[in-house]
Parts: sequence; C-alpha cells; structure tokens
Amino acid sequence: MPDLAGKAAIVTGCASGIGAAAVRRLAADGAQVLGTDIDAAGGQALCDAVGARFMVQDVADEARWEAVVAAAVEAFGRLDILVNNAGTVSSRSIGEVDMAAWSRVIGINLTGTMLGCRAAIAAMQGNPGGAKGSIVNIASTTAIAPLPTDVGYSASKAGVRALSKSIATWCAQQGWAIRCNTVIPGATDTGILSQAEKLTPGLKAAVAATSPMKRLADPAETAAAIAFLASDECPYMTGGEMLVDGGMMSLHPGF
Ligand code: NAD
Repeated sequence: MPDLAGKAAIVTGCASGIGAAAVRRLAADGAQVLGTDIDAAGGQALCDAVGARFMVQDVADEARWEAVVAAAVEAFGRLDILVNNAGTVSSRSIGEVDMAAWSRVIGINLTGTMLGCRAAIAAMQGNPGGAKGSIVNIASTTAIAPLPTDVGYSASKAGVRALSKSIATWCAQQGWAIRCNTVIPGATDTGILSQAEKLTPGLKAAVAATSPMKRLADPAETAAAIAFLASDECPYMTGGEMLVDGGMMSLHPGF
C-alpha cells in the first residue's frame, strides 16, 4: 500500500464515485486531503467521515482554483498531490450537440483539469525542499473508444490525455520533480452510470456483460491506481497512463 504520510492532497469531485473513493484511499494511506465538489452537502459529509477538509468548487471557475489551492497550502503548508477527478457527461451526439452542452462538458472535464494543473504546479514549486508533486488526471476509455452518443465527453477525455502528456514533459524539462499521469477508467459503478441507468434501465448489466471480467469496476479499484501514481513509488513515471478497465481496451485492436 503506498505510503502517503506527510503528503497534502486535493481531490476534485469528492462527493461521489471515484472521487469519494480517492479521498477515502488517500486519507487511509496517510495523506492530509482537501476534497472539493459542487455538491456541498455530499462533499462535506464524505470529507467529515474521513477527517478531510472540504470546499465547494466548480472546477470550471478559474478564480475558485486560486482560492482552493491557497487554502490547501495554508492548511497543510504544502501541496504534493492533485487528483483532477470532477467530471460530467453531455449525452449528445454530433447531430444533437449545441454550444451550451459542448462548452459545459469541455469546460468542466478539460478546461477544469487544465486550470487545476496550472494552479497546482505554481503551488508545488513553493514546496519545502523545492518543486515536487504528483498530478493524477482522470480520463476515460471513451478517449480511446469514443462514444457516438457523446461527442463532447469523448473529445474532452481525449484532450485530458494530451494535456497530461504536455504538462508532464514540460515539467520534466524544467527540471521539476512534478509528475503528471493519467488514469483511464472503464465502466465504473458510480453516480454517472446510475444516472444513465435511470434513463436506460438495464444499462449497467448490459455494460458489464461486454467486459472481459463481466462486471463493472468498484470505485475503490480505480482509487488504488490513483494512490499509486500519487505516491513516491513511481518516480520515473510521468506522462504515463494506467488503464483500470477490466481488460476492455485489450479488445480494441491497435491500442
Ligand atoms: P460521479 O457522478 O459519481 O462523480 C462525479 C463528481 O463530480 C460528483 O460528485 C459531481 O458533483 C462532481 N462534479 C460534477 N461537475 C463538477 C464541477 N463542475 N465542479 C466540481 N465537481 C463537479 O461520477 P464518477 O464516475 O465518479 O466520475 C469521476 C470521474 O471519472 C469523471 O471524470 C468521469 O468522467 C470519470 N470516469 C467515470 C467512468 C465511469 O464509468 N463511472 C468511466 C470513465 C471515467
């Protein structure tokens, strides 16, 4: 189990699903955690339950990022880990998408991730002992096998993969020990899938049936990969990607 004792972390989208599991896991591994979410009640309850701090945050709001990172540094004296997890879907094909839906999903999933990386990297440069830290961005297998029914979500998650690699290489070239990696979850049993299940009863079982493992991921399984990348266990890993998809993408020739 990665040792995160003494490390300070921010996890976005902490009220539910993978973000909630990540807060639980990072805290259990010894990190001090600040969770954020637009869901004030859900985020506060989760963070209270594990002894983490909580702030309301819309990750698409540029100014709020400065406040969140400043609060973490003030509370913990440093920032070692950022998990850019908050995400949403638009559920629109290219034939249905309008500018409002497109801008919303790109704003949260892609621009929000960029804003978080920018603010965290600035803070990580001021860490005691010099520039050091680990950023974990959450993409999706839809970045590799895009959904015809959600053009904005698929494009935003493909963007997260390139964003992570650009940030990783730039930080390394500056001589900073700031790593940036991507976790690529497959179908995971969280709020996003539960919402879709309400519109399409039986969806979860149908998706699970297509998986080589014949089941959805538990969010704690994704959080384990996040904790590993966040830790000092993999200092030479940057610009990398970890699939947590039960083997699903191995069925896609060429990947
Ligand atoms: P979830 O719906 O359970 O959790 C998402 C959380 O993000 C919620 O708590 C929500 O309130 C929060 N959020 C939404 N918009 C926000 C905003 N603008 N600012 C701050 N918080 C916001 O879903 P999840 O599956 O846990 O999703 C977490 C991440 O995992 C997302 O980036 C998602 O795209 C990704 N992902 C999920 C799956 C899956 O099958 N569940 C697969 C691949 C990738």
